[in-house]
Amino acid sequence: MSKKRASEVLKRLEVSIPDPKVELKHTSPFELVIATILSAQCTDERVNQVTPVLFGRWPDPESLAGAPVDEVEEVVRPTGFYRNKAKSIQACSRQLVERFGSQVPQTMEDLVSLSGVGRKTANLILGECFGKPGIIVDTHVGRVSRRLHLTDKEDPEEVETDLQQLLPKKNWSAGSSRLLLHGRYVCLAKKPRCPDCCLASLCPSVLPMV
Ligand code: SF4
Repeated sequence: MSKKRASEVLKRLEVSIPDPKVELKHTSPFELVIATILSAQCTDERVNQVTPVLFGRWPDPESLAGAPVDEVEEVVRPTGFYRNKAKSIQACSRQLVERFGSQVPQTMEDLVSLSGVGRKTANLILGECFGKPGIIVDTHVGRVSRRLHLTDKEDPEEVETDLQQLLPKKNWSAGSSRLLLHGRYVCLAKKPRCPDCCLASLCPSVLPMV
């Protein structure tokens, strides 16, 4: 049942979200890694206001790694948790320089070895920058997947494993991006917009019409 539902979900989301773009602005894998670290507990919109300034001053791993920490903190301050985030993006930049010749690596194992990079970010980078299949599981993907009974897990890694069983590999990146955007704009955490939802007729959690 879940496999059938998953396939129909993907079909409908392909229609409602034809172009599931990453909303974090970036012009390179390096910029997307850094923007993703900054996006923790922060909106993409806010991150998109900060990154042009950040990359305008320090456009590559070498310059960001060597920048004065207080200046980096000041620039990333609007994204919240700025001390930790500044530390993380500078450590990550240093690791890119020292271990990967200033290039973002292209495997899960190498990506998650970087400071501030977990499986969610790694899967995003793999799909968006390198065309490799990866299921992004953030809070939206987890919630939507549970509401659609594609998983009953809370732990993101377990959700990822469940979705790997249900989604065809060629759809891992775009499919999970669509679930994410659907959660961000339609299947909202507090008040899901069920009457506007293209998945309502197959969703076990659809709210009754009032
Ligand atoms: S019908 Fe409602 S609960 Fe189900 S996916 Fe759509 S918005 Fe979410």
